[in-house]
Amino acid sequence: MLQLEGLTVVPDPRPERRARLLGLLEQHKAGAMTVTHLPNVRYLSGFTGSNGVLLVTPKGTKLFTDPRYALQTSGECDCAAKICTGPVWPELAKEVRRQALTALAMESDKLSHDQWLASAALFGKGVRLKRARGLVESLRAVKSSGEIEAIRRSVRLNSEAFQQALGEVRPGMTETQLAAEIDYRMRRLGAEGTAFETIVAAGERSALPHARPTGQQLRANQLLLVDMGASLDGYCSDMTRVVHLGPPPARARRLYEAVLEAQLASVAAVRPGAACARVDAAGRRALRKRGLDKFFRHSTGHGLGLEIHEGPRIGRKAEGVLRPGMVITIEPGVYLRGFGGIRIEDTVLVTETGVEVLTPTTKEFLVIPS
Ligand code: ZN
Ligand code: ZN
Repeated sequence: MLQLEGLTVVPDPRPERRARLLGLLEQHKAGAMTVTHLPNVRYLSGFTGSNGVLLVTPKGTKLFTDPRYALQTSGECDCAAKICTGPVWPELAKEVRRQALTALAMESDKLSHDQWLASAALFGKGVRLKRARGLVESLRAVKSSGEIEAIRRSVRLNSEAFQQALGEVRPGMTETQLAAEIDYRMRRLGAEGTAFETIVAAGERSALPHARPTGQQLRANQLLLVDMGASLDGYCSDMTRVVHLGPPPARARRLYEAVLEAQLASVAAVRPGAACARVDAAGRRALRKRGLDKFFRHSTGHGLGLEIHEGPRIGRKAEGVLRPGMVITIEPGVYLRGFGGIRIEDTVLVTETGVEVLTPTTKEFLVIPS
């Protein structure tokens, strides 16, 4: 970062990202790569359109897209662009021949079998195709300062939308209506949209970790689980809170306290160098003390950024290690059939020395008057 008379100039991160990708490609003995997964295309070039393939080679990076994006490309991309009037792949193959490339890495986990075969036929026998999985994703797991700021803004917007929507919660309202209210608030606050389909689950339905909102009405004396995330400037946020309509019974309070304790234990385990599996284990251990670990049936969290689910995974068998600049969720939950579920989820940043919880929303067990 450069300091110029009180102005902070953040250098464009894209050339450095592409240079690091080329470094990774060398290790894979490929030298060049096609990037088809759109969040990866955006990360490397700035392009946000829905049709574009990048060719990254030591000679430079070129985007291949169609005429709909001619204008957008010149505004967004910092690399060369080829506006193709026909299909993009034959044009890309021409460039591969022009540069006399003999090996090309492809995002094999993002291409269909047919696409792989078609491009192999197009490139011909002179070009060896190499399966490259998760290369750009591995770069994306550690966020730049600009990305961290973008996630902070998204997280703040999400919490504000939750706060506003909470003021609208009334018995008689349906889950779908509350979800619509949340989505509307996000957009009003400036989000492009939701990062994923908003989850609103009342009463026993809160025991379904990924419940879709239904026409069921909210009633007094019920748990209400909301899992929501915004997308702002391309960056996601993710938060779950559980509130109670009317004063909660002792059982709900006990469960809430147990999940909160587990969540705080996992958050406290977040620091650079910590094994992701250990962060998961910390929360699970807290639940085991209360005999509740068997009701925690998913992993503790996930990275997020341009996509809602990115590396690293924070699970029982996760192999990764946390590094400064990673942004992850911590979201343990307990789900009891016939009663309901409680999950508490924050978005947190791995700092140089430990952890910063980005989500500003209170984790007190909120009671909605009913
Ligand atoms: Zn969530
Ligand atoms: Zn999540």
